Amino acid sequence: MVIVMESHATETDLQVVVEHVEALGLKAHPIFGVERIVVGVIGDERLIQKDQLSLIPHVENVIPILKPYKLTSREFKQDDTIIDVAGVKIGGKEMVVIAGPCSVENEEQLLETAYSVKNAGAKLLRGGAYKPRTSPYVFQGLGEEGLKLLMKAKDETGLGIVTEVMETADVELVAEYADLLQVGARNMQNTRLLRSLGKVKKPILLKRNFSATLNEFLMSAEYILSGGNDQVILCERGIRTFVEYTRNTLDLNVVPAVKQLSHLPIIVDPSHGTGRHDFVLPLSRAAIAAGADGLIIEVHPHPAQAFSDGEQSLTFEAFHQLMKEVNVIVQAMGRNC
Ligand code: PEP
Ligand code: MN
Repeated sequence: MVIVMESHATETDLQVVVEHVEALGLKAHPIFGVERIVVGVIGDERLIQKDQLSLIPHVENVIPILKPYKLTSREFKQDDTIIDVAGVKIGGKEMVVIAGPCSVENEEQLLETAYSVKNAGAKLLRGGAYKPRTSPYVFQGLGEEGLKLLMKAKDETGLGIVTEVMETADVELVAEYADLLQVGARNMQNTRLLRSLGKVKKPILLKRNFSATLNEFLMSAEYILSGGNDQVILCERGIRTFVEYTRNTLDLNVVPAVKQLSHLPIIVDPSHGTGRHDFVLPLSRAAIAAGADGLIIEVHPHPAQAFSDGEQSLTFEAFHQLMKEVNVIVQAMGRNC
């Protein structure tokens, strides 16, 4: 349910509503809009009596949210959510590019990449310290050592850090280093992890699982929002289809679909979405044209020697070229980057 307050309602009136809702054993999520305050009411729907809520003083209207996801839905919040990641705003007019290696390998590799992507116009640095690999026999990431290198790269370049957290036990540690905590595709429905990220005071990048429906994707976001963290950025990274000439099939349909159904920003990962470095540029263009709020792209100084995902990583030169070429589409969309 959404409780719409009267336009002249005060903070004290709001407090009365919040107390009333909480007394029913439900959670209240106030949103301060330009014109009025609305309160999302979340919890066991059987406890919610629409008529009872509409009798609270200074309540103008009570509207049910029909979708299974509530706080994530456009019905709950009409305005686009803009998320501040270390001073970079995602979900507004700017189309933000996040770039960096798949895995943090060593100091030289990371710093060299960080400086290069920054010069090309990337606004945030990505790099995995904890890697969810298909084989247990290959590089699994540097762990905390990798987080320290990311922090060093941030100190030197000023770029905010995006890195994956794989386990609930690591959330606190990763949150000390990261500006944006990534939930990988394989963990999209790890509900324990999602719940613990609901308590974190930093933004979350939630990647879509390769077999998740749009509804499942948005329900996963709902776990984080309902836990108390409303800073969630969604990421489309490709799904499994019968197609075998690319690693995944980038489902760009999901971009306008998310824009209709949710107020959260959505970015696109053409690196994992295609698995091919030569397809990253065309699919980046397509993602921006479809309305994506940003891109996350893998870049490596020597892709052929990368510890992970070399075949889809761009060289510095290719990334610089990409940034120049996508700018044309960004401008055409009335945005800037
Ligand atoms: C990654 O970003 O390197 C990664 C492992 O992504 P995904 O979880 O989408 O496979
Ligand atoms: Mn990768």
